[in-house]
Amino acid sequence: MKGRVLLIEDNEQNRYLLTFLLTRHGYHVESACDGRSGIDQAKTEVPDLILLDIQLPTMDGYAVAMALRQIPSLDRTPIIAVTSYAMVGDREKALSSGCDGYIEKPIDPDTFVAEVERLCGLAHAGWEGA
Ligand code: MN
Repeated sequence: MKGRVLLIEDNEQNRYLLTFLLTRHGYHVESACDGRSGIDQAKTEVPDLILLDIQLPTMDGYAVAMALRQIPSLDRTPIIAVTSYAMVGDREKALSSGCDGYIEKPIDPDTFVAEVERLCGLAHAGWEGA
């Protein structure tokens, strides 16, 4: 097993696809359908990586990222935003909310996991340099 991923995503098809791709690459995936349960799961499971949809019901991904960054045990857990918001400024908004990287939907199944791993590598390099 490569690591434990928490996927916070309200769309069932996206949950299915991302879980399938990550599992096939050796990851263990747990998922949550909304921000509040995602935050609770993150606290108890302390995953190695969090993939976070931005467009979520009730509490959007930016608010979720900010809440996750208040949890000390998740200090070094990369949070990668996965979102169809592709407006100017969205990437900056995700990063300033505490996300370490940003992947745009629609997901490309051939490159998704490699892109996740690339962004996680960058996040770790950033921490080591700090
Ligand atoms: Mn969504």
